[in-house]
Amino acid sequence: MTLIIGLTGGIGSGKSAATALFEELGAAIVDTDVIAHALTAPGGGAIAPIRAAFGDEVIDARGALDRAAMRRKVFADADAKARLEGILHPMIRAEADRGCAAPGDAPYVVLVVPLLAESGGYRKRARRIVVVDCPEEVQVARVMSRSGLTAEEARAIMAAQTSRQARLAIADDIIDNGGDLSALRPQVEALHRRYLEMAAVS
Ligand code: ADP
Repeated sequence: MTLIIGLTGGIGSGKSAATALFEELGAAIVDTDVIAHALTAPGGGAIAPIRAAFGDEVIDARGALDRAAMRRKVFADADAKARLEGILHPMIRAEADRGCAAPGDAPYVVLVVPLLAESGGYRKRARRIVVVDCPEEVQVARVMSRSGLTAEEARAIMAAQTSRQARLAIADDIIDNGGDLSALRPQVEALHRRYLEMAAVS
């Protein structure tokens, strides 16, 4: 059985930065955000069912999901979000399962799920959960400088996610990314060594 490590963290915590280091060390990466993006890009597998459910107006000229138009629909129609998720979530799960089942030469898989704490299904797939953690004020600052959002907008996104405490409660391993970026690599390297050992005996 392939060793699957679930990786999560709040917005701006440093999931992408940590994931890039695991990838550099040789782990296979299966990222549900990347899968969701591909499914809703031009030619993506979710475009036809989304068009059938919501009409041409949510598909842009390139054939991708028009996120702004979709947001307007979700805002106007309480069921739209659940219907969209009803289309996307099973497709994302199926694609993630395919990726986890085909790690190639990689010794283990890092399954990146931003909402892992909210999702029992993905948690069950992971043998271990690693949480990328930093103080909430640091998250706000990073999200503001990365996305140009205001502090209020950053906080609103964070308020819709699991709390820092609830995320830490599901962690087997914690990466402390509240400090300098240079402190990230040694922590990822130490975990990588442990995961290699776990993979070797599994
Ligand atoms: P996530 O994927 O969890 O949303 P990212 O890895 O994209 O977070 O990091 C959010 C932003 O903060 C990015 O612009 C990233 O370059 C930056 N960042 C990540 N870790 C650090 C760190 N330790 N120090 C400073 N900036 C960081």
